Amino acid sequence: MSKVSIIVPCYNEEEALPIFYEAACKELAGIEDLEFYLIDDGSKDGTLAIMRNLAAKDSRVKYVSFSRNFGKEAALYAGLQAATGDYVAVADADMQDPPSLIPQMLEILESGEYDCVATRRVTRAGEPPVRSFFARCFYKLINRISSTEFKDGARDFRLMKRQMVDAVLSMTEYDRFSKGIFSWVGFRTKWLEYENVERSAGQTKWSFWKLFKYAIDGIVDFSAFPLLISCFAAGAFWLAALVMLIVCLCGASPSWLPLATFIAFCAGVIQTSVAILSLYFSKTYLQTKGRPVYIVAERKD
Ligand code: UDP
Ligand code: MG
Repeated sequence: MSKVSIIVPCYNEEEALPIFYEAACKELAGIEDLEFYLIDDGSKDGTLAIMRNLAAKDSRVKYVSFSRNFGKEAALYAGLQAATGDYVAVADADMQDPPSLIPQMLEILESGEYDCVATRRVTRAGEPPVRSFFARCFYKLINRISSTEFKDGARDFRLMKRQMVDAVLSMTEYDRFSKGIFSWVGFRTKWLEYENVERSAGQTKWSFWKLFKYAIDGIVDFSAFPLLISCFAAGAFWLAALVMLIVCLCGASPSWLPLATFIAFCAGVIQTSVAILSLYFSKTYLQTKGRPVYIVAERKD
């Protein structure tokens, strides 16, 4: 019998967590070997007290409580490190990741064809339109400039085999953008689609500004493209200098043109130095992340 771990990151979820626990117990009654890893991300309300109570009355419930708020990514990482299951699920506490889908996900993984079942929302009903608009722009942009695939509407909600969890844990980078990490490690992933569900209770922890910073993190963590903009800028200055030089040599140019040509030339030289630094820096940046060079799915030595 395989063991299943459910990781639940919680930040000020005193209202939502009991609802989640009740629902998960009901939906997952068929799983014999189950553990919950509740991660208290420095909540300021009664979340930790609820975790202590649940753990006291149900030995399957374990918890980790942070000394302060470190963010959902840190909570997910702590949960993945602590979980001991053969199958590991991550789900939000607010029922937006319906635990009722987990048995179906488990069935798909047990059939052996996939290593991971992930979920994506196909609707964004109930979300402010501006937020949906920026989310769509983010996915378009990042998919253009990153070699890692980012599925529009993908949630962190997923069930993974142990092998994939270990691969995710082998990525020890400090700035964790799980949507990218899950995709980067590869493995055969089945996508389930579902309609957006509204939060069961409590408030979203994501302000627009926090989401914006999160999007920037995603881009910086999974693409060196912003660094390479300096290469394009260098090219543009050289081209401008060349065109102006040709016009100067053809004669009949305005008196300011030689100076403008000289300025564009100097800018080209400086910008090229910046571009060269960027190229080396992008390599160093990747090296400091210490990502594995490859991840094995299967082997026979
Ligand atoms: N969360 C967390 N730390 C944070 C922010 C959020 O652990 O700093 C948890 C939160 O308790 C919830 C999940 O991450 O279980 C998703 O957060 P939320 O529902 O607020 O995000 P949304 O669904 O609105 O994107
Ligand atoms: Mg939510």
